Amino acid sequence: MKFNYFKYLKTEDWKIRKKELLNEANHICSECGGKAILLHHISYDNLGYEILNLDVIALCKSCHDLMHEDKITGYEDYDLGYGEKYGEW
Ligand SMILES: [Zn+2]
Ligand SMILES: [Zn+2]
Repeated sequence: MKFNYFKYLKTEDWKIRKKELLNEANHICSECGGKAILLHHISYDNLGYEILNLDVIALCKSCHDLMHEDKITGYEDYDLGYGEKYGEW
């Protein structure tokens, strides 16, 4: 992987982007309609300029956990922090 995904998740850029994308999603979980608190990457092609519902989807914690249980993606993005970590939302 040429791009360090985990490093990227720690950048200010991503934090700002994450906020914007969650706002775009109206903080609604794309799976259950609950309160979305994080973004799950479904494609890593556009890191740095993700497009909602194409590269990332907004999810609540339980739906996100299910995503990873189903192993839809091999990457873990738990390190995004569930809001509490960065004091957001
Ligand atoms: Zn959900
Ligand atoms: Zn995920």
